[in-house]
Amino acid sequence: MSRPLRVAVVGAGPAGIYASDLLVKSGQDVAIDLFERMPAPFGLIRYGVAPDHPRIKGIVKSLHAVLDKPEIRLLGNIEIGKDITVDELSEFYDAIIFSTGATGDKELRIQGSDLQGSHGAGEFVGFYDGNPDFSRTWDLTAEKVAVIGVGNVALDVARILAKTADELKVTEIPDNVYENLGRSAVKEVHVFGRRGPAQAKFTPLELKELDHSENVEVIVDPEDIDYDEASEQARRDSKSVDLVCQTLENYAIREPKGAQHKLFLHFFESPVEILGEDGRVVGLKTERTELDGTGNVRGTGKFTTWDAQAVYRAVGYRSEAVEGVPFDAERAVIPNDGGRVLDPSTEAPVQGLYATGWIKRGPVGLIGNTKSDAKDTTTMLLEDFNTGRLSAPSKPEPQAVLELLDARGIPVTTWEGWRNLDAAERSLGEAEGRERKKIVEWDEMVVSSHPEYEI
Ligand SMILES: Cc1cc2nc3c(=O)[nH]c(=O)nc-3n(C[C@H](O)[C@H](O)[C@H](O)COP(=O)(O)OP(=O)(O)OC[C@H]3O[C@@H](n4cnc5c(N)ncnc54)[C@H](O)[C@@H]3O)c2cc1C
Repeated sequence: MSRPLRVAVVGAGPAGIYASDLLVKSGQDVAIDLFERMPAPFGLIRYGVAPDHPRIKGIVKSLHAVLDKPEIRLLGNIEIGKDITVDELSEFYDAIIFSTGATGDKELRIQGSDLQGSHGAGEFVGFYDGNPDFSRTWDLTAEKVAVIGVGNVALDVARILAKTADELKVTEIPDNVYENLGRSAVKEVHVFGRRGPAQAKFTPLELKELDHSENVEVIVDPEDIDYDEASEQARRDSKSVDLVCQTLENYAIREPKGAQHKLFLHFFESPVEILGEDGRVVGLKTERTELDGTGNVRGTGKFTTWDAQAVYRAVGYRSEAVEGVPFDAERAVIPNDGGRVLDPSTEAPVQGLYATGWIKRGPVGLIGNTKSDAKDTTTMLLEDFNTGRLSAPSKPEPQAVLELLDARGIPVTTWEGWRNLDAAERSLGEAEGRERKKIVEWDEMVVSSHPEYEI
């Protein structure tokens, strides 16, 4: 074949970018079009990772080196399944990799979840990370807030709520977020987990870092430090679990530093109902649990009512289906075998379709984990190509897809466009002595990327 292997990668988050990189590095002659729904690339690094985690946001710098490669063409501001169907896309490429990640909140099925003041953590993340799909304002009138969940997203939400707006002003947060956080009434944040310290899903670094703000007092009740045989075993088996337990033990025994905002981490409290009055959250009811010897817990029948005027449900993210691609609604993933998309009726691979990242295995794990995902998926794709299991596209010319987008009047944002948007955000930040200030509005992002577009 004299032309390169043409691959469409759908979703320019870390998974899609790593997959593109691996295909280029494979030595195969490839041409990759990296499609992205948002005007800007980087997925949840831009719209999930907390603004006060500049080290993690900085991963973008290493991804720049990938997107600089001539074999990769970024085509942003295009939603696959809507602006172009998957069938149409197949006409241009030998293979398509879906790396569409996750955006929504997983449901928490307890009474009161739909009360005013009960929020999905993802909605709040969307607000503070300046995602144009989410609200520009946030109700922060609650003095006491409950956060349900013991993973890193719960920690992010709790930390952003507990820190002062001025502490966050050095980050990339946009003006609307800074001003809104500045009006926050939050004094106490209570994080709840139904199991114990050894079962928490925090990572050690994030848990330690919670304590770095002089305005935030992290408090753990010594009564909540408890381990059964399975918990002890988990500590012996995993350095990370042990470090989390050690940090929590340290929080439980030390003297308070007298910070203005309190952040409580509660264990063995299983949320059973969000309490409301006149349709608004007024509290959270939990049942005390105890370990059963296996690392699981059972209810004790002892209930507590906690004052809270807002509840954040940080129980996980959820992926969305892409129109025209199989979707397992139960697990909220694209059904796949190691990365080959499966037809749910026959369980056979669908020719030319692949999945990687959170849409492949569910919304757990760090950015680094998407690298190994991408390795498995791209290895399969190349194997299928080299054994003749892919069929050639009917329109392999690189211009063909651009002509279709042009005919549809879609203002495509490119890698050069990102460079412009990046420069615009940096210069907004520099004017205030910070590295970057985010541009929020969708159209403003498009026009900052491509001043030649009229929107
Ligand atoms: C709140 C939060 C905080 C986090 N903090 C950290 C952290 O501090 N450190 C860490 O290592 N990890 C963190 N993570 C995890 C990390 O973000 C994920 O591991 C990683 O982003 C998953 O990568 P992905 O590429 O699979 O998905 P995503 O990052 O979600 O990227 C998917 C991309 O696909 C695009 N897309 C979706 N549908 C379409 C479509 N139909 N057409 C075109 N494009 C589409 C999306 O717009 C998005 O850009 C955090 C996650 C969350 C939710």
